[in-house]
Amino acid sequence: MFARLMRHIVLLGLVLMSTSAWAELSPLPATDMVANDITPAIPFDLDALKRNWRARVNAVKATGQVPIIDIESSFNTGKLEIRRFAEGMDELGVALIAYSHDTKRGWSDAAGRVVAVDPWRFIPATIGGTENFAEDPEGFVALLRQHVVRDNYPLMAEHEFRHYPSPRQVKRGELHRDVSVPIDGPAGEALFALSEQTEGSFQIHYEIEDGLLPPLEKMLAKHPKAKVIWAHLAQIRYAEHSRIYGPAYVRKLIETYPNLYFDVAFGGPNSVYPISNERHARIWDQNASGAQIQKEWLEVINDHPWRFLAAMDMGGDRQSPDKLVEYVQNLRQFLNQLPEPTRSIVAYKAAWKLLFNEEL
Ligand SMILES: [Zn+2]
Repeated sequence: MFARLMRHIVLLGLVLMSTSAWAELSPLPATDMVANDITPAIPFDLDALKRNWRARVNAVKATGQVPIIDIESSFNTGKLEIRRFAEGMDELGVALIAYSHDTKRGWSDAAGRVVAVDPWRFIPATIGGTENFAEDPEGFVALLRQHVVRDNYPLMAEHEFRHYPSPRQVKRGELHRDVSVPIDGPAGEALFALSEQTEGSFQIHYEIEDGLLPPLEKMLAKHPKAKVIWAHLAQIRYAEHSRIYGPAYVRKLIETYPNLYFDVAFGGPNSVYPISNERHARIWDQNASGAQIQKEWLEVINDHPWRFLAAMDMGGDRQSPDKLVEYVQNLRQFLNQLPEPTRSIVAYKAAWKLLFNEEL
């Protein structure tokens, strides 16, 4: 009787232990909000942070899930419920998120405050080049250069060289975000050169159009050591502008340019770009009944898994812990179709290797 009771108690203890381990894989932030008066963790101590981050990847693995490193999301830091968000990441197996603070003007050290509050879950990325970049591209890159070097950022966030209005902006009637900064102009030159000098990677938003491909290739050929992450693999908003890009073309790019990467932040199979009314996430097989990746895309990813990076592309107006569930489900819907070891490489190993030049 006593032995049975003891067994029950031990079993109960194990259940409680595993539940709490599941709910909290790393220490949770002490506060719910990232206050403005927190001293940013700048310059970043990457050696110390990497020890935390590596431990976290291993902790997610120990739950049986494939860890995710999200290479591309941006946040409104003033509105982020960081503690609840951290709990959500733990539950969903999101090891790390490259954190870019969304701001339209000047510089911001908000990512440094976030890392001070939670040095376990967020990899600091610089602020993204959105309106501020479009208005003064060269000025923006000069500011970026100062901060990347001085503050020790491991990643430069997304720069919008060519950007149509996003679906959410279309909904709100904001059609002004029709951005065009020539990638082979002075700001592009400065950005590619900065990446070469610092060996840091940067992201580009660059809509897929036939006419935009030659200038990009020109820059990739001219700056073979610049590490470029082209966001939103196979997201084509207007099929009529794009006759060249497809799995064969992406394969050719990968095999020609050694430092070109792609992130997989694209919509689900039924996601429609509202202006063209087209299903813009072209990676999906539209003839299949469920969400299925086209065979040719699967082959190129499988042949070159280190060039593809998991990404959610969360944004400041969709950063609630509830939204996180939706984003992770979408991403895993894609990742789960990749065979191992490709799945683990795309989910987290490729990002670690690109950012830190070492294998996990
Ligand atoms: Zn983008």
